[in-house]
Amino acid sequence: GSADVSCQMLVLGAGPGGYTAAFRAADLGMQTVLVERWSTLGGVCLNVGCIPSKALLHAAKVIDESHESSDFGIEFSAPKIDIDKLRTWKEKIVGRLTGGLNGLAKQRKVQVVRGVGSFLDLNHVEVVGDDGKKTVVRFEKAVIAAGSEAVKLPFIPEDSRVIDSTGALELAGIPKRMLVIGGGIIGLEMATVYHSLGTKITVVEMLPSIVAGADKDIVKPYQNRIQKRYEAIWLETRVTKVEATPEGMKVSFEGKHAPAEPQVYDRVLVAVGRTPNGKRIGAEKAGVAVDERGFVQVVDSQMRTTQPHIFAIGDIIGQPMLAHKAVHEGKTAAEAASGLPSHFDARVIPSVAYTDPEIAWVGVTEEEAKAKGMKVGKGVFPWAASGRALSLGRDEGVTKLIFDEETDRVIGAGIVGVNAGDLIAEVALAIEMGANATDIGLTVHPHPTLSETVAMAAEMFEGSITDLI
Ligand code: FAD
Repeated sequence: GSADVSCQMLVLGAGPGGYTAAFRAADLGMQTVLVERWSTLGGVCLNVGCIPSKALLHAAKVIDESHESSDFGIEFSAPKIDIDKLRTWKEKIVGRLTGGLNGLAKQRKVQVVRGVGSFLDLNHVEVVGDDGKKTVVRFEKAVIAAGSEAVKLPFIPEDSRVIDSTGALELAGIPKRMLVIGGGIIGLEMATVYHSLGTKITVVEMLPSIVAGADKDIVKPYQNRIQKRYEAIWLETRVTKVEATPEGMKVSFEGKHAPAEPQVYDRVLVAVGRTPNGKRIGAEKAGVAVDERGFVQVVDSQMRTTQPHIFAIGDIIGQPMLAHKAVHEGKTAAEAASGLPSHFDARVIPSVAYTDPEIAWVGVTEEEAKAKGMKVGKGVFPWAASGRALSLGRDEGVTKLIFDEETDRVIGAGIVGVNAGDLIAEVALAIEMGANATDIGLTVHPHPTLSETVAMAAEMFEGSITDLI
C-alpha cells in the first residue's frame, strides 16, 4: 500500500522502553520514527509514574521529618501546605524531563508522529491523530513499546471520587479519608504521600501480606511503622461493593478484617495492578502473537516477537513492570534490530517500593528459596547496630543477603530502611559479577554509611562479624 512516511525503524510508544529503543536505533544509524499518542514523550514513567510519584514522596518526607525532628530537640510549627504550588513543582520536574526528551529526539533526527498507532500489516502502522488525521508509516523493523494501564475494578462506579494512580498524582486536593485498594508498591507509595499531606489512610489487600514480592521479615519494619500511622491495614480482606452517596463513597468489605458496617471515604484509590496494552495495537494484523491477558509474546533474548522483524519490550511483554527493565530491553531490541549480537540476559532485576522506609529486593528471596527447596544461607544485619542509621534517627532497617550454600555466592537480597533502593544496586552488581560473601565482606565500604550494612550482612553469613558502630 501507499505510505505517508517511510522508515527503517518504527517504535510504537514513547515510554522509557520506547524512547530508549528509538534513540539507540537512531544512534546506530537507523532512520527512526517514534509513534506516541500523548502530547509529551516519556510514557507512564515520566508523565504519571516513577517521576511525579518520587517528587511527591520527597515532599512527604520533608513533612514527616519536620514532625520527627522534635525527637532530637528541633521543633517546627505545623507545615503549611500549598497544594497548588506543590502540584506546579511536580509538573515542572516532569516538564523538564519530557522537554529534555524532545530535545534528544530532535538531536537524533528521530521523527515523532503523534497519535494512536495500530498495525495494518507486516510493514505498516496507521497513526490516528487527535484531529482524526491518519498517517500511514511504512517500516522495515519495529519495536512495540506500548506499555500498560491501570486495572479497573468493574463493580466500582465511575465517579470523580474514585481514582487510579494517575488521578492520585494529579493532586486535585487533600481528602480527609482515603481507602487504598491494593497493598502493592503503587498503592502504598500513594498512601505514603497522602498520609503525610494529612489524609487518614486505610489499606485493604486480598493477600496475606502487603508488598507481596518481598520477604515478610523485610516488609515487617515498614508495616510496623504504618500500622501506627494509618487508620487501618486490612489483609486478606476484599472490597465487595462501592456505592456513590452524597457523603462519600460507601464501601462494603468481606474477609478476615472486614468491618461489619460499610465505611464511607471521600476518596477511593484503586491500585490493583496494571494490564498490558497488547490487545489494542492491531498486533494480529502483523502476525504478532498476544496472549489472552494482552501480553505481546517475546520468543528470544533479542526481544523478537513471533515476527522476526518486530520486537517488543517493557510493560507490554510481562512482569516485572519496571522502567529499568524496559530501558534495558529497549536498548537490546534496537541493537538486535540493527544487526548487533545483543541479548537481554540480566540475572536479576531489582524491585523497590519508595515508601518510608523503602523496601528493596533483588534476586532470590528467602521465601522463594525455601519454597523451591534451594540450599541457601543468609546474613542479616539489623540497622540498630549501624551508627549511620542511628544518627539518621532511623534504626528500624534490616539488610539481608541470601547466599548459595555451596558456592557462597550471593543470589539475593532484601533491604528495608531509608534509601534501601539505592543500596540494593550494589547487591545487583554483586550478583551479576558472581561475587561471594568474602568478596562483599572484603570490599572496603565507606564509614559511616548505610552501605556498610551490606558488607556487614555478608560478614554475618560468614560468621566473621566484628562489632562496628
Ligand atoms: P509506558 O511507560 O507505559 O509507555 C507506553 C507509551 O506508549 C505511553 O506513552 C503510551 O501513551 C504509548 N502508547 C500506548 N499505546 C499506544 C498506541 N496504540 N499508539 C501510540 N502510543 C501508544 N517503575 C519503576 O521502575 N520505578 C518506579 O518508581 C515506578 N513508579 C511508578 C509509579 C506509578 C504511579 C506507576 C503507574 C508506574 C510506576 N512504575 C515505576 C512503572 C513504570 O512506569 C513502567 O514500568 C514503565 O513506564 C514502562 O515503560 P514502557 O516503555 O514499557 O511503557
